[in-house]
Amino acid sequence: MKNIIIIGGGLAGLVASLQLQDAGAAVTVIERKQYPFHRVCGEYISNEVKPFLQSLGVSLAALQPATIKQFMLSSPAGKTLHAPLDLGGFGVSRYTLDNYLYRLAQSRGVNFILNTSATEVTFNQDNFAVELSDGRTLPADLVIGCYGKRANLDRQFQRSFFQQRSPYIGVKYHIKTDFPKDLIALHNFNDGYAGISAIEDDKYCFCYLTTRKNLKKHGSIALMEQAELQQNPYIKQIFKKSEFLYSQPEVINEISFAPKSCLENHVLMCGDAAGLITPLCGNGMAMAIHGAKIVSDLVREYLYSKCIREQLEQNYVQHWQNQFARRLQVGRLIQGVFGKPILSEAAVATLKIIPGAVNFLIKNTHGKAF
Ligand SMILES: Cc1cc2nc3c(=O)[nH]c(=O)nc-3n(C[C@H](O)[C@H](O)[C@H](O)COP(=O)(O)OP(=O)(O)OC[C@H]3O[C@@H](n4cnc5c(N)ncnc54)[C@H](O)[C@@H]3O)c2cc1C
Repeated sequence: MKNIIIIGGGLAGLVASLQLQDAGAAVTVIERKQYPFHRVCGEYISNEVKPFLQSLGVSLAALQPATIKQFMLSSPAGKTLHAPLDLGGFGVSRYTLDNYLYRLAQSRGVNFILNTSATEVTFNQDNFAVELSDGRTLPADLVIGCYGKRANLDRQFQRSFFQQRSPYIGVKYHIKTDFPKDLIALHNFNDGYAGISAIEDDKYCFCYLTTRKNLKKHGSIALMEQAELQQNPYIKQIFKKSEFLYSQPEVINEISFAPKSCLENHVLMCGDAAGLITPLCGNGMAMAIHGAKIVSDLVREYLYSKCIREQLEQNYVQHWQNQFARRLQVGRLIQGVFGKPILSEAAVATLKIIPGAVNFLIKNTHGKAF
């Protein structure tokens, strides 16, 4: 039986573990945290993932997600546009979803090593050795890198995006508020944008992306929110009318949208570790899940000796590029417009008068149901 180590137990790692365990491999997931835990994420998931998750025996209904069918966009000054979402999505917190997938994978026999980081991966004569923060070294036939946007392993792999500092930070809250349950709204402000949509238990996820420069200008998150975000009247209403459920927001920095490679030193990279789409597209989670399916389908062929490692790696790079490269490019282009007051005012005004423009952009940053 082949030994597979998955580094990182977010969506990509958990979904790949379910599929590969089912394929007959011995799967170990190494996760540096302990479930359940909160993550910075907008928690809106495109419906494109539903058929595949159902095929894995994932019961989304049990998590009581919100059904999201409508989209609203506002400019920093409060101009708006509304559009129905063709495919739509659902809202569930990562706290609940990841914990559910973890328990499901554990019940199916996946081995988890929690509260532990992978610190180094070496490849030698067709085998891997994975060093852990607890001092152990584990052997593996295959390693899948699902460790998210940025980790120390990227330094070891000398990935170019790791050398450059990224200007972006992400902030997230769970709130209780008065807001339509079937709507996802994207509100622009100077140097950033915020998303709000419903999740389970009558709660909402309110999450935004801005720059370190913006935070530095105001000195604290609270002062920045007051001075910049609340210039947008819709965001102001959220702060005024909502109950904030965390004592402190979840915050991450160094969010890089720079291109990455999905193969590093024979490690198959998946999810954000292979490439992060800009959050305003709301497709990173679907890409992580779809990427896990692609890697697992190809690894299954390798496990049954239908191909050698070299073919597996070539096929993976090709499939990954075909599925995701264009979405990432379009996402980067759109990101260039949002968060900049004059450009985003113009963008909202223009999108409003072109019928179908919003759904055209959504189609180009999302995939089809798989
Ligand atoms: C501000 C913001 C808003 C977003 N909003 C949305 C949205 O609304 N919809 C959407 O679809 N996407 C959204 N995204 C993107 C989405 O969150 C990611 O694309 C998705 O979480 C990627 O999943 P992943 O499994 O690749 O990584 P993650 O979910 O980040 O999981 C990586 C895991 O690896 C672990 N790890 C890291 N290093 C190590 C190590 N060395 N050893 C062991 N474990 C390690 C981490 O603890 C983590 O659990 C947003 C992103 C941001 C930044």
